[in-house]
Amino acid sequence: MSETVTRFAPSPTGHIHVGNLRTALMNWMIARKSGGTFILRLDDTDPERSKDEYADAIREDLEWLGLTWDREERQSARLDRYAAAAEEMRASGRLYEAFETPVELDLKRKKQLNMGKPPVYDRAALALSDAEKDRLRAERGGHWRFKLDQERIEWTDGILGPLSIDAASVSDPVLIRGDGQVLYTIASVVDDTDMGVTHVVRGSDHVTNTATQIQIMAALGHGHPTFAHHSLLTGPKGEALSKRLGTLSLRDLRAAGIEPMALLSQMARLGSSRAVELAETPDELAANFDLDSFGVAPTKFDEADLRPLTANYLQRLPLSAVAGQVSAMGVPDALADRFWTVVRDNIGTRAEMADWWRVISEGATPEIDAEDSDFVRQALNLLPEAPWTEATWGEWTSAVKEATGRKGKGLFKPLRLAMTGTDRGPDMASLMPLLQKKPNL
Ligand code: GLU
Repeated sequence: MSETVTRFAPSPTGHIHVGNLRTALMNWMIARKSGGTFILRLDDTDPERSKDEYADAIREDLEWLGLTWDREERQSARLDRYAAAAEEMRASGRLYEAFETPVELDLKRKKQLNMGKPPVYDRAALALSDAEKDRLRAERGGHWRFKLDQERIEWTDGILGPLSIDAASVSDPVLIRGDGQVLYTIASVVDDTDMGVTHVVRGSDHVTNTATQIQIMAALGHGHPTFAHHSLLTGPKGEALSKRLGTLSLRDLRAAGIEPMALLSQMARLGSSRAVELAETPDELAANFDLDSFGVAPTKFDEADLRPLTANYLQRLPLSAVAGQVSAMGVPDALADRFWTVVRDNIGTRAEMADWWRVISEGATPEIDAEDSDFVRQALNLLPEAPWTEATWGEWTSAVKEATGRKGKGLFKPLRLAMTGTDRGPDMASLMPLLQKKPNL
């Protein structure tokens, strides 16, 4: 059997979001699981909308996630290949020139719909004489359409199962625009065949494209890869996510402190029959990936789920995984191990480590209810100066209990608030040896 080759083919016209990530990850996992090749392909044939800064951002986002690629291809560097393929299809009569303007096409569609017919291009251009074509070309320029064989196109989809689309219900796709710009459909077909792509996983919005791409591949003398179309993401209540995707970019999630493994672990299982499990590495996800477990129904995505996953991930990290950041914050090496052990269970993101370090190194801004202020003042007088040990908390609170008669929550809560500025956090006995100052009342 030939080597497995997959690709992730974003257009560098914006930042990639969770929807794109799902596609990228599935293709990456298929390649990695079988020891094959994963190609990053930049679909940049639109010179106006494609930007280098977006291509850079895509690479950076994939690197952040640890989704490595074996090869990078840019469609803008392969225009001669697409021109040659177009020439081949012109010669075989499968590519024809048409001249309708967008307004004319729109009118035709409306008429067809009024008559209860499907709005499929009527192939009027095929009836034009050479003289008429010359005149129209000079007047307004022409674009090029692929002439579909009007038969049923069938394939077995890796997720959706057996599919068939009647080509007569689809307009002949435009492959080359009036201004000569090569469009996605032909570029993608030529790349997938030239690059030996064996598996194409993408969103179910591409199902109709797949039907036409299968015919174009055949017209160029090739078979087609295995296709699988995953369902599209919706919001937690099933609402369309398309408008919100802009705010669910990978960079926004990164800026919000979401850990890559939390995001990858969620995306690797969302929409499948298997529960989300936090993995330690992307390779672990690949090893356990199973395309067959994915279903047809729209997939609910709730970004709020990424928070507990991120916190769980951090709780499992050894100091070595964060040592650089811990030391950059100013935590002395001698305290680093205790600092991380105490703090990792009490943070939602890495950035929150800094809040704890501030409390530890600078002393808390105490939060004290008015009715507790005398009590806290009295208690702090009973606390010896730092350094403190694990025993300090027990000894101190016993002494305070003795002196004031307070116990339980009424004893502990105001003291925690005084020492840390918050009523939730690490076990106080373990925290005391880290704290360096009494709070300033
Ligand atoms: N550039 C296309 C997209 O982002 C690629 C689709 C495909 O995977 O073929 O939708």
